Amino acid sequence: MKKGYRILVVGGLAAGPSAATKAKRINPDAEVILFEKSDYISYGICEIPYYLTGEYRDKNNLVVYSPKRLAKEKGVTVRIKSKAEEIQTAKKSVTVRDMKSGRTRTERYDRLIIATGSRPKMLPFEGSDCKNFFTIKSLQSAYRLRDYLSRHNPRNAVVIGGGYIGLEMTETLRKIGCTVTLIHRHKYPFTGLDKNAGEKIVQELETNDIYFVPHTEVTGFETRGKEFITAVATSSRSFPADIVICAIGVTPSTEFAATAEIQTGPFNGIITDEKQRTNLENVYAAGDCCELRNIVSGKSALFPLATVASKTGRVAGENAAGGDALFNGTVKNVAVRLFELEISRIGLTMAEAKETGFKPIKETITAYSRVAGMPDSARLTVTLVADKANGRLLGGSLVGPDGAAHRGNILAALLRLGRTISDLSDLDLMYAPPFSPLWDPLLIAANQSGKKIRGRHD
Ligand SMILES: Cc1cc2nc3c(=O)[nH]c(=O)nc-3n(C[C@H](O)[C@H](O)[C@H](O)COP(=O)(O)OP(=O)(O)OC[C@H]3O[C@@H](n4cnc5c(N)ncnc54)[C@H](O)[C@@H]3O)c2cc1C
Repeated sequence: MKKGYRILVVGGLAAGPSAATKAKRINPDAEVILFEKSDYISYGICEIPYYLTGEYRDKNNLVVYSPKRLAKEKGVTVRIKSKAEEIQTAKKSVTVRDMKSGRTRTERYDRLIIATGSRPKMLPFEGSDCKNFFTIKSLQSAYRLRDYLSRHNPRNAVVIGGGYIGLEMTETLRKIGCTVTLIHRHKYPFTGLDKNAGEKIVQELETNDIYFVPHTEVTGFETRGKEFITAVATSSRSFPADIVICAIGVTPSTEFAATAEIQTGPFNGIITDEKQRTNLENVYAAGDCCELRNIVSGKSALFPLATVASKTGRVAGENAAGGDALFNGTVKNVAVRLFELEISRIGLTMAEAKETGFKPIKETITAYSRVAGMPDSARLTVTLVADKANGRLLGGSLVGPDGAAHRGNILAALLRLGRTISDLSDLDLMYAPPFSPLWDPLLIAANQSGKKIRGRHD
């Protein structure tokens, strides 16, 4: 590679720093510059719910790398408060605005990596700019929420959206003393779980005095002086609110990419190949701003997860620096803790499997997580989804107070390898009373699923 080779990275949270540091490792002679429009880079956004409760112990250390440290230890030049606004493909340059002075400058690139991430979906009602309305998507938003909580000490909290972030924030607000209403448009939170698992979650919410409102759409906000939301109006009734958290999902941030006609897909995510290359020469993309291949369905989808952002970032960084790395897709693997309950969901849900064109069967069992009678042993509900045609494992979920999250990783591994229910039955899962019963719940679920696939009920 020629001297003065320049790799520009836009976006500094998960995918961006991952790409920049990998690029520098692969090509130490390259000048790698990372632009981030906000004040912070490389911080633990996923820890924020636990930071707010105080459970996250290292309170002063949410930031993994400061710009200074990334420069010193990894050789990456960082420009914070720098918003990349436009790509000039013919000139191979990018216009960057200094957010402090408002001035713009042009930066030349040999390779450009777009890691602009995602932004929260918003409701189309007045009130979203009120002082007590929050989305959680950045360190700034977390600090704003922390300050609001300590200054106003709100009593009635309304969380909109029962996905994993909505559930985490529900737990957080309850733990800091709020009365919490959780509004969700489907029957059960963490949509896609079967009835058994869904009811366990609802029960856990009720046990912790959360008012769960299913099948409900928000229709507007009632406000006081346009500054504060006082109630959340819904299709059924309105709920008093001193604070509102909106967690209804995210959408890819592709405005910057759109300045150069970079191809996006049906979910508005940037389309890349397996080297994380976009349709434009010398331009790569990684993280939440991309659509990626779902390994189980073979289809393109959004995977707004830090795990995926970091991996795609590494691949984009390596390739932009002259390497030859591949990212061939991902398996959805999400877990959440809700008070005493662990919940994990892996691969396709039954509905997604049907939509993809599989002929899926579903089996749900409940069994002890460790030998019954041992400390911490608890009933674990396992659901497996498989293709009736050939027994291929398509997805699963685990819900229970013990052993639901990490067991999900076993399913994720099998899903990546395209294995079957019979392969799961054959796994040599250990038995030791403090950790697992003789027949691990996953094996029991696999054996039962196998019977269903073979059409036997013995
Ligand atoms: C509360 C919460 C909890 C989460 N928990 C988990 C979890 O437990 N596990 C998990 O796997 N994932 C979790 N996630 C998801 C995970 O945080 C995201 O998937 C991940 O941060 C995506 O990284 P990214 O770098 O692709 O995008 P983003 O995190 O969206 O970062 C993009 C960055 O680019 C910057 N940017 C955007 N446009 C420009 C521009 N034009 N110029 C300069 N800078 C720009 C933005 O300011 C931002 O800093 C959680 C998310 C939240 C909000």
